[in-house]
Amino acid sequence: MSDCLFCKIIKGEIPSTKVYENEKVYAFRDIVPQAPEHIVIVPKTHIESANDITPENSSAVAAIYESIPHIAKTVGVDRDGYRIVNNCGKNAGQTVFHIHFHLLGGCMGGKMY
Ligand code: AMP
Ligand code: ZN
Repeated sequence: MSDCLFCKIIKGEIPSTKVYENEKVYAFRDIVPQAPEHIVIVPKTHIESANDITPENSSAVAAIYESIPHIAKTVGVDRDGYRIVNNCGKNAGQTVFHIHFHLLGGCMGGKMY
């Protein structure tokens, strides 16, 4: 999608601080971190939100989950733990409509649910 912020970040048209990349996944530091370690993980294919996951494109989401252990280790939160968050739609506060998963780690409180 030509006007999608995260597609532009993936293509390098907008700068980002990359922490991990493979054939299907790109991960970078959130510009407004909500935790000491706050990484945004996106599929390289444009999927708008969790509402748009299908049997045809779900391998992109699986690739994200497969990348999570590597990313957690890279930023040093694999041992102490972290939270993975996906916001879907306006009531969840989704602001960028290219599906993404927040990895939040560091000094955090307890559970949110
Ligand atoms: P969400 O609110 O769940 O849609 O998450 C979108 C996230 O993208 C927010 O946490 C923003 O801070 C983050 N964000 C927006 N623009 C950029 C950018 N240029 N580089 C890194 N993170 C960004
Ligand atoms: Zn996109």
